[in-house]
Amino acid sequence: MTTKQARWKCPQCGAGILAPTKPRRDDVRRYCLPCSAKGGRLVERIAPALEAKREQRAAFVSEKARQKRQVARRRAEPKKAQERCDAIRRRIIEKEAVRIWKHMKEWHKGKPLPRIEIVRGRDWGRTRGYAGGRDIQIGVDPTQNDDRSKWTWALLAHELAHIACPPISGNGENRNAHHQMFYYCLREAWMKRWKVDINFREVKQWGYSVDRIIEHQGWHAVRFVLPNPITPIGQDDTNNKTEGNNQ
Ligand SMILES: [Zn+2]
Ligand SMILES: [Zn+2]
Repeated sequence: MTTKQARWKCPQCGAGILAPTKPRRDDVRRYCLPCSAKGGRLVERIAPALEAKREQRAAFVSEKARQKRQVARRRAEPKKAQERCDAIRRRIIEKEAVRIWKHMKEWHKGKPLPRIEIVRGRDWGRTRGYAGGRDIQIGVDPTQNDDRSKWTWALLAHELAHIACPPISGNGENRNAHHQMFYYCLREAWMKRWKVDINFREVKQWGYSVDRIIEHQGWHAVRFVLPNPITPIGQDDTNNKTEGNNQ
């Protein structure tokens, strides 16, 4: 078996020899003995081809590392955009909650605004809100459009109405959360907030069907738009300004 050879050159006199690419530490071929004898110190030969290879390798490794960092950065970007967007949404939702809560004053008689927990919603069914004690929870879909934002608003108003108008006492089946008072409170918030007229002529019984009646009459008036992390192609950001124009 032959060991791989390289040309080793003395950096001082330039004289070269062939020696293994990885000579032992004490291999005399590593050193230029005449130059060493002249200067009194060991003069180490270098292999230009090996140096060049080492440099290429170092450049390759650092380029790979750079690419890796770039990929990691790109991967983190959508997440960061979503986080920034979530923070903006939270401010919009909280500001809106304050408004809605004012319109419900007649029912809550000045109780403090509940704490609002925003959770990641999915477009599955309509049971994405929750109210209990001093808290409400609302699910907000990661991607918003006109209808989903309207729905977020409707959900917020609905859950706030639960705190303003607590369930009528009773447990389990007797506990009545969606009672007449509750819906009068909710209707008032809709009418005052969106300057829309909602009547209860169609109501046959108090329950979720009343939400549908309210939505049927008031949906068109709702101007509530939550931003998306990335503006979809072909759509400018005028939607995001709607909220601000709608004081
Ligand atoms: Zn030499
Ligand atoms: Zn409810």
